[in-house]
Order: sequence, then structure tokens, then C-alpha cells
Amino acid sequence: MKRAIISDIHSNLEALEAVLNDIESQGITEIYSLGDTVGYGPNPIECIEIIRKKVTICLLGNHDQASLFDPEGFNSSAERAIFWTREQLENPKITGMDERWDFLNSLPKIHREDDFVFVHGSPKNPLNEYVFQEDIYNERRMERLFSAIPMCSFQGHTHVPGVFTEDREFYSPNEINMRYTLGEKKAMINVGSVGQPRDRDSRACYVVLEDDTITYRRVEYPFEITIGKITPIIELDNYLGQRLREGK
Ligand code: ZN
Repeated sequence: MKRAIISDIHSNLEALEAVLNDIESQGITEIYSLGDTVGYGPNPIECIEIIRKKVTICLLGNHDQASLFDPEGFNSSAERAIFWTREQLENPKITGMDERWDFLNSLPKIHREDDFVFVHGSPKNPLNEYVFQEDIYNERRMERLFSAIPMCSFQGHTHVPGVFTEDREFYSPNEINMRYTLGEKKAMINVGSVGQPRDRDSRACYVVLEDDTITYRRVEYPFEITIGKITPIIELDNYLGQRLREGK
């Protein structure tokens, strides 16, 4: 079975549509999303509607949770975006409000299947823990993380794609020619971000899982359209648009 694993859409409709087209062009119908459907971007309602319809499994991300409850630990720009997102979600003039709230409210923080665990943040703290490349130097932390993984975890949250292995190596997608075979060692796979990549590549990022092979996909999308929507919304900082150009 071929599956697409996407994450961190962040209300970026143009990126989401481009990625879904790329997924469809490969005949893939199973899509898992690791959360943060909303936050930062200008199209939260549209992204939730698409995700609700197209995705087999959808997890809760920290921005999704903050839109439901009170944001904690966010910088002021992210927090303002959360409050703006909530306003859109609570707008009674846009139909389907109850269904959207029910959908967000029903999202699990973790999904286990076979030898895999799917989370937004980390296998130890599914919602909020960031695992960055430099964490490979922290032996105890890596041991703690890998102790929670049967064979492989899929995660997002940092918006930086790459493969962490049990022997404390990190490989960016380019270093492994966009492909990694699971099996020998436990692995944590960061699938990157659809709607706000931060590895200095502006293209949307996601992963295809087929048997024991994962393949990273990069997809160009018209980010100038997204930026053009963000700029006039005062609650969304201009920087949230500008960073899409550079993928940072
Ligand atoms: Zn995110």
C-alpha cells in the first residue's frame, strides 16, 4: 500500500492543493496528516474542509489545539495568527462551523499502526516536543525518544524534513537522494511541512511511504498568491508571508 504522509499545512491552501495534486498524480488515495492544519496562513476554513474530506488519519497539532483552547507558549506573531484563526472558525456567517469544531475537537494526538507511530511533535510528547538535527548530540534524549518507537515514527512540528536514526545520525532529504529504506535501525522520520517549509527550500514537502521505503517529495506552488492573501490581513504578520519565499 502506498501512503502519503503530510504535516503542517498551516492554512496554506495553495500549498495544500499542489501537494494533493501531486499525491493524486501517483494514484495514492491513503493520506495521513500529522497536524497543524491551521495557524499562520490565510485559509484555515478551506484547509480544514479539504483535510476533513481527503485524509484517512488526521492528528492534532499544537496550533490546532491552540485554536480550540488558549494558546500557550506561542510567540506574539503566532499568537495573533491563532486568535485570527479562531475568529474565522467562529464566524457564524460561514456555514459548517459546528462540523469544523467537532472535527478539530475529535482529532487524536497519536496514531499507532503496525510498527509505526504517527505524531505531530515527538513520540514522547506528541503535541509539543521539537526534535531538531542538533538533538542527535544529546544521547539521553535520543535514547528516551527511541524507547517510545516500535520501529519508526513519523512526525512534523519543526518544519524541517529529515531522517533521525537510532545511532544518532541525521540525514536531510538531499543527503539521502530523497529516499530512505526502513528496517535495520529504528528511525524518526520528519516529513517536513506542506505550508511553511523551513529548510531554505520554498517548495512544499511531504513523504510517500510504500512498503519499507520512504520517498521525500518537493512540490512547487504559487506562494506569491498566498503572500498576497496574508499581506492585507493585519492580524497576520507580513513576515509570515515573506518567509514562504525563502522557505525559512
Ligand atoms: Zn507547525
